[in-house]
Amino acid sequence: MVNYIPEPFRIKMVERIRILPRSEREEKIKQAAYNLFNLKSEDIYIDLLTDSGTNAMSDLQWSAMMRGDESYAGSRSYLRLLETGRDIFNYHYLQPVHQGRAAEKTLFPLLLKKGKYAISNTFFDTTRAHVELTGARALDAVVAEAKNPSLRAPFKGNMDLKKLQDLINVYGNKVGLIVMTITNNSAGGQPVSMENLREVSKIAKKHQIPFCLDAARFTENAYFIKMREENYQEISLKEIVREMFGYADMFTMSAKKDAILNIGGLIGIKDNEELYQKVCTQTISYEGFISYGGLAGRDLEAMATGLYEGLDENYLHYRIGQIEYLAGKLDEAGIIYQTPAGGHGLFIDAKAMFPHIPYYCFPAQALAVELYKEAGIRTCDIGSFMLGCDPDSGRQLESEFEFTRLAIPRRVYTQSHLDYVAEALINIKKRSHEIKGFKIIWEPSVLRHFQAKLEPL
Ligand SMILES: *Cc1c(COP(=O)(O)O)cnc(C)c1O
Repeated sequence: MVNYIPEPFRIKMVERIRILPRSEREEKIKQAAYNLFNLKSEDIYIDLLTDSGTNAMSDLQWSAMMRGDESYAGSRSYLRLLETGRDIFNYHYLQPVHQGRAAEKTLFPLLLKKGKYAISNTFFDTTRAHVELTGARALDAVVAEAKNPSLRAPFKGNMDLKKLQDLINVYGNKVGLIVMTITNNSAGGQPVSMENLREVSKIAKKHQIPFCLDAARFTENAYFIKMREENYQEISLKEIVREMFGYADMFTMSAKKDAILNIGGLIGIKDNEELYQKVCTQTISYEGFISYGGLAGRDLEAMATGLYEGLDENYLHYRIGQIEYLAGKLDEAGIIYQTPAGGHGLFIDAKAMFPHIPYYCFPAQALAVELYKEAGIRTCDIGSFMLGCDPDSGRQLESEFEFTRLAIPRRVYTQSHLDYVAEALINIKKRSHEIKGFKIIWEPSVLRHFQAKLEPL
């Protein structure tokens, strides 16, 4: 039994949600062609599709927004964001952008081009896309234990150092960038240890390869280091963050995650003025003038406040505790997920729940559809349905995992919502042998999971 850690906040404003009767849910999901991205949010009771931009801002963030300086150049809000970023990350140069992928689009073409390679613990999908849009190739080198969902290890997000070194030996000076994703989203929100960051930094320096953090969930990662890594229990989260960022040369960040916002992104450059000047030029072309980067002054205020709130230890204790609480309920019921619980959600092993559904009938999508029909809960497939087909042969690829992801928005749902989610999963498990897979009846040529139409088998 894992105790629920009470919310370190009280609720001042509420947003109504409602659950449709089962017959209507069945009709809605059928009309949506069994793709949860096609559902209207008002037809959903509990929305665990993503933790990106779905966060609840605080009274301090909303009031900071009222102080937003909307001047085109030199705004007070921009200066406040720079001061905050320098204080937290100890980086000299910061550039706001409208979201994470805008940071990637702005920075990566300055470092990569055709013939180059970038290596990551695991690339997030937009990050991989922006590496490949420069003409370069993206390679993953996550530790082997990440691939075994029932294995409990403290830092399943780590880079496999031997594999990294081997790739550098093979590709030599064609390796243009090393990216460490913290936490490792695609491996289930699993953290990266300080030791691993330190070792990767040494390898990057030795070979003079720029080292970039993909830092969307940097506060959750820092919290895991504090809880799990030797010698960090007495160190403040801010000092941990400064050490983490100290090992890298630059970062890209989606501020829609740990900065607890609805929109925003950030680029950081530690001390390379020449690179920063190029980032400014790119920003002006793609995002807007450097003092707002595609955001309103009020968004910069919300970000400056949110960066500190995301780093608050009481908040992180509650946030990670909330996910561990849900995981504890699933343990009691024998439901398998990527263990230990990740920082931003639980990744349920649908292959284990539906051993009779083969990968090409999409077990994780079947569980996502079933959760909606059972309880009005929206989740998504992180498995073969998302992976798609081999571009050459057109054959369905088999994903390493068949995960149904329950992403938990920050400060949005309470203990009773999570109890309800656990109960729905337990009910589905009891009749798991009855549940059937899906086939695709239409799909677009890229990123098909957002748009594909399905039919039950
Ligand atoms: C969300 C995310 C991104 C992309 O950010 P957006 O704000 O969605 O554009 C990049 N990397 C990681 C690890 C993410 O989680």
